Amino acid sequence: MAKYKLEYIWLDGYTPVPNLRGKTQIKEFASFPALEELPLWGFDGSSTRQAPGGSSDCVLKPVAIFPDSTRKNGAIVMCEVMMPDGTPHPSNGRATILDDPGAWFGFEQEYFLYQDGRPLGFPADGFPKVGQGPYYCGVGYSFMGDIARQIVEEHLDLCLDAGINHEGINAEVAKGQWEFQIFGKGSKRAADEMWVARYLLQRVCEKYGIDVEYHCKPLGDSDWNGSGMHANFSTTYLRETGGKEYFEALMAKFAENVEEHIAVYGPDNHMRLTGLHETQSIDKFSYGVADRGASIRVPHSFVKDGKYQGYLEDRRPNSQGDPYQIASRILKTISEVPTP
Ligand code: ADP
Ligand code: MN
Ligand code: MN
Ligand code: MN
Repeated sequence: MAKYKLEYIWLDGYTPVPNLRGKTQIKEFASFPALEELPLWGFDGSSTRQAPGGSSDCVLKPVAIFPDSTRKNGAIVMCEVMMPDGTPHPSNGRATILDDPGAWFGFEQEYFLYQDGRPLGFPADGFPKVGQGPYYCGVGYSFMGDIARQIVEEHLDLCLDAGINHEGINAEVAKGQWEFQIFGKGSKRAADEMWVARYLLQRVCEKYGIDVEYHCKPLGDSDWNGSGMHANFSTTYLRETGGKEYFEALMAKFAENVEEHIAVYGPDNHMRLTGLHETQSIDKFSYGVADRGASIRVPHSFVKDGKYQGYLEDRRPNSQGDPYQIASRILKTISEVPTP
């Protein structure tokens, strides 16, 4: 038997952007525990905007477990927040995701590293001498600095140790801006892994005195890029059957639900979806083959041989969006389109 450090993490009740919270419980197991072996736990919801002080108990229900290689016998346990009666708490977006093992998501998380209130590598006043251009996928001290890559690499290794299905990382267009991509099969898997990857990134950054800035346009109305979290998605039907008629019906349903989608695609998205910097305007909906100025980009592979099969990329979700709510909304819209 060994004592395991189980870090139960969950999303709090702050709006429009929930924070991650976590606390450790020690339990003895013969070997690394399976999800089924993990007990429910509780917390004080009055300290997280999830309950009134007079009736403060909320329940943590483990939904996924990941090894934590920074701690001896460590694990990170992703939890849903439940009411004492066992029903999902209103802040629990994960519980609203339709169960569909055939749904696959790939999220591309962009973010800034921030220090002293500005992007890492920015001078104390004003902007870097060199504007956007050489930073995207760049190399060299004068463009990348000395700490950023250390953080990014450390984060990548922690995620891989945890079994998170990273597909890649890259330096982004703005100085101090980076991206990682996570792909998962099953309607909830990629979103679970995204939240754990965000948690690990923030934790790695603590010891460097650096914060992760997820806001979609931290440099405001400037020529510096904002951050997105493109959501690539497919279902069994889209991958194996598809067809032009179904695709057009699906896009019509997305067009009907623009407001519902934008509502969960992250706050302040009007600052980012301007029609500039490879985005479509927030009030328009469009799709196009290989079109990075469209709301939904249709990959070449999708239209190949007139098949209309494969995955689609919704480019509107931003870097501060909750992948649970994003996946939930995309699958709801898909479910409203009948398949023959
Ligand atoms: P880009 O930056 O050009 O949009 P990326 O390679 O960063 O391209 O992202 C594309 C993402 O699409 C990958 O991260 C992958 O997870 C996702 N993806 C690929 N195939 C599928 C699929 N069949 N269903 C859902 N997502 C997919
Ligand atoms: Mn990408
Ligand atoms: Mn990108
Ligand atoms: Mn993309």
